[in-house]
Amino acid sequence: MRKINIQELEKGPVYLQEERPPHQIDTQDLPFRIEKNVWIDLEFRRQKKNIFALGSLRGEMITNCARCLAEFILPVQMRIQVRFCPKVPPTSTLQELSEQDLDVCYYEKDFIDVDAHIRENFLLSLPIKPLCQEDCAGLCQSCGQNLNLSSCTCAREKSSLPSSRLGNLLKNLDFSKHSAS
Ligand SMILES: [Zn+2]
Ligand SMILES: [Zn+2]
Repeated sequence: MRKINIQELEKGPVYLQEERPPHQIDTQDLPFRIEKNVWIDLEFRRQKKNIFALGSLRGEMITNCARCLAEFILPVQMRIQVRFCPKVPPTSTLQELSEQDLDVCYYEKDFIDVDAHIRENFLLSLPIKPLCQEDCAGLCQSCGQNLNLSSCTCAREKSSLPSSRLGNLLKNLDFSKHSAS
């Protein structure tokens, strides 16, 4: 675990420019895997009881596509602009916080767990519906074929049905448009 000691920050800012190994960040309960080092470039600065973290992180996670369910690599690159407050903030700082355009996090005890913070940011950057590619074709709902890899015959069979309701509807719409003009 990479810790930033709150006491140590009284002496001055701390700079972290390093790669964090995946096993330090990855935990069993995450909806993704991390297999490569995560590069962090962060400055920690203390102002009274607040700790400011500024910089960036870069890495990648392996997750499953919401459409075709295949695993894919999702690059993560984000700017970090966070204010860490003591776990239970006094009411006076709550008003202060709303004026600031920074993300707010809380620290417990006398240190900030940098790896846990990286983990949180990875979670935040994971889309609700991650897609392996923007135009992922997904799975065929009839036979389950991954349509990115090869097509199946289900779609063709369906569209060639003469009594398709949608087909009839479209024909009717088309007809009414022609008769109006
Ligand atoms: Zn996909
Ligand atoms: Zn199919």
